[in-house]
Amino acid sequence: MDRILLSSPHMSGREQKYIDEAFATNWIAPLGANVDGFEKELAEYVGVKGATAMSAGTAAIDIALNLVGVDKDDIVFCSTLTFIASANPILYRGATPIFIDSEWETWNMSPQALQRAFKDAEKEGKLPKAVVIVNLYGQSAKMDELLAICNHYGVPIVEDAAESLGSYYKGQKSGTFGHYGIFSFNGNKIITTSGGGMLVSNDEEGIKHARFLATQALDTAKHYQHSVVGYNYRMSNICAGIGRGQLEVLDERVGQKRAIFERYEKELSPIDGLSMMPELENTFSNRWLTAIQLDPNKFEVTPYELIDALNAAKIDSRPVWKPMHLQPVFEGCKFYPHAEGEVISELLFARGICLPSDSKMTEGKQKYVIDTILQNLK
Ligand SMILES: *Cc1c(COP(=O)(O)O)cnc(C)c1O
Repeated sequence: MDRILLSSPHMSGREQKYIDEAFATNWIAPLGANVDGFEKELAEYVGVKGATAMSAGTAAIDIALNLVGVDKDDIVFCSTLTFIASANPILYRGATPIFIDSEWETWNMSPQALQRAFKDAEKEGKLPKAVVIVNLYGQSAKMDELLAICNHYGVPIVEDAAESLGSYYKGQKSGTFGHYGIFSFNGNKIITTSGGGMLVSNDEEGIKHARFLATQALDTAKHYQHSVVGYNYRMSNICAGIGRGQLEVLDERVGQKRAIFERYEKELSPIDGLSMMPELENTFSNRWLTAIQLDPNKFEVTPYELIDALNAAKIDSRPVWKPMHLQPVFEGCKFYPHAEGEVISELLFARGICLPSDSKMTEGKQKYVIDTILQNLK
């Protein structure tokens, strides 16, 4: 039996047509009709004025932070429970991250922790230049509350929607709440370009400037002239072709991911001490990965032991992201817990497991995963 994967590329069969077009017109080299098309189609899909295709989601975050003016010695607030790529670009810019804890209802940024962080920053006379808000595993953060706080202080949001393409918050597509939003098309994401990202915004000047910065910041002149530091961050026309073929089946993939979640929920949620990642009222998660929690008071088996047992049965699973404030690379960075003595991200990390959520996984294979979990839940 082949390994059951966490989340792997799932081609639609429509990608090749776009790639063939690129070959036929010899637009192999960067940019071209697929890049333009992919940007336009993705912007329409999420409902924003503009999009810039990038070589990675990480590159899109780096450019977004640049565009909102994050510079050396600035402060940036960032969700602590996330993948490292949300926070690394803060260091690329020479700025200092301050990490914000999660809350129980979405596992995302805690508004009350964010509020305390802002109060302290105001007292110290140094507000952050940006707030990076992550939507974990497809679930939107509490955008109303977080936006109200950021707007009060006049600080722009960069919405890291790398994991939440196709999700909604109160009827509005995920990734469109910040001044800039970013998506990732890494191989494990809900759709892939083999590797790539997208910056989206309603700020059309910003999107244009993103394109300029990501293409080596080449001035309009007869020779190669550069007035600011640029980057080589654009997506290739071949990758964008894959993205166009993938975007056509994005809603289908969301349906498949949600069906996977629902089958897990049906079989696993009745078990005392096991809980599913919640979905906040009036939000719709793409359920990129199904995540569960094991109450340590109810089970002898730890998440690591369960992950090992699944691994022995050729099933991929992972711990929930290790919080950024616990990462050696961010040692010494400030951190705001949800409440005094209540660090929710650390509990989620200690108790959480991401189950295989591959959209190619058959119902039979998922039943095997569920049976293997049940056998090992002691
Ligand atoms: C995948 C991911 C990214 C980075 O995307 P890349 O395209 O791999 O650079 C950023 N943030 C989060 C939360 C992610 O899961």
